[in-house]
Amino acid sequence: MTTRVFRSPGAYVQGRNVIDDLGEHAESLGDTALVLGDEFVLDLVGDRVRESLETAGFDVALEEFRGECSEREIERVVDVHTDHGADVIVGVGGGKAIDTARAARERTDGALVSLPTIASTDAPTSSVAVIYTEQGEFVEFHVYERHPELVLIDTAIVASAPTRLFRGGIGDALATWFEADAAYRSGATTLFGTRSTRTAQEIAKLAYTTLREHGRPAVEAVERDAVTESVEAVVEANTLLSGLGFESGGLAAAHAIHNGLTQLEDTHDATHGEKVTIGTLSQLVLEGREGDFIEDVAGFAASVGLPTTLAEIGLDEPAREDLAVVAEAACAPEETIHNEPFEVTPDDVRDALIAADAIGRRVR
Ligand SMILES: [Zn+2]
Repeated sequence: MTTRVFRSPGAYVQGRNVIDDLGEHAESLGDTALVLGDEFVLDLVGDRVRESLETAGFDVALEEFRGECSEREIERVVDVHTDHGADVIVGVGGGKAIDTARAARERTDGALVSLPTIASTDAPTSSVAVIYTEQGEFVEFHVYERHPELVLIDTAIVASAPTRLFRGGIGDALATWFEADAAYRSGATTLFGTRSTRTAQEIAKLAYTTLREHGRPAVEAVERDAVTESVEAVVEANTLLSGLGFESGGLAAAHAIHNGLTQLEDTHDATHGEKVTIGTLSQLVLEGREGDFIEDVAGFAASVGLPTTLAEIGLDEPAREDLAVVAEAACAPEETIHNEPFEVTPDDVRDALIAADAIGRRVR
C-alpha cells in the first residue's frame, strides 16, 4: 500500500504569556466560546482566558470539567455547549479535559481549541482521545475525524507547573522517533491506517535531537519556574514535534510496553511518560541496538530525572510471572508492538524488560 497521510492541527501558537493572545488567534473560529477545564485550572487561568476571548468579541462561558473523559461527561458537555449556543470549545488544562472537549466538538461540529497548561504528553495536538468509564477505567483510544483548529501553549504556565509533569513529557517524546522509525522500516500503518511520510519521520527525529540538546537545561530551568530558549525548545518537542510524530509517524514497541505495564497496579503512580521511558529502553533492547547506544539513551533519561529501572516505576524486584503479564498484554494482537520490523513474542518482551532494567541500573 502506498497511500501516505500527514495530518495536523490548523495552527500552533507557543510562547510566554500567549494565553493573553488567545482571542486574537481564535477570532476567525467563531463568536461564542465554551471553556472547559478542571476547577483548579479555571482558578489559575480562567480570568485571563475569558478576558482575552471577550476582548476579541466572544461571548464566553466557563464550565468546570468533572474529572473523567467518559461517555456521560462528554454528553453533559455537549448539552452545555448546545444550551450556550457555542461555536467554539476550548479545552484547557490536562489531557482529560482536552480529550472531553475533543469528543464533544465532534458531536457539536464547532471549532476546537486545545490549550494545554502542562507539557506532559504529546496528545494536545492530536485527533486522539482516551475514553474512560466514570470510574476511570480505560475504555478505548478514539481517533476523531478532525484535529484542533488551534493549539495554544503558554510556556510561562507550563514552566510553573510541577517539574515531574514536564519530565514525563520528555519521556513520552523520547519514544517518538524510535517508534516512528520502527514503523517506517516495517512498512506498518499509522493511526490513520496509511503509510507514514518522510515529513513525519523527520519531525519525529527532530523531537529526539531537540530533547538531547535541550532536555537537561530545560528541566533545570523549569525546576526554578524559569522560561528559557531550552524550555521553549523542549515544550515544542514534547507537544508539537512529538504530537505530529506519533500520529503521522506511527507507534511501535515502546507504547505497547507502556500499555502492558499498566496491567500491574504497582505502576499506577508512575506517569504516562515515565512508563513510556521504560518501554523505549526495552524497545531498544528488543531491536538489538548496541549496548553503548542504549546506555547513552538511558543516561540521558536519568540526567533529566526520568526512571530507567523497574523499581523507579513501582516494580521493586518484580516476579518473572508479573513481567510475563506485562509482556502478554504488550503483545496483544491489536498492539503497535507488531509494527516492529520483526516478529515479537511475549518471551522476547519479558526478557527485554529484564535486560533494559539492568542497563538502567548501571546509569543511575
Ligand atoms: Zn504517549
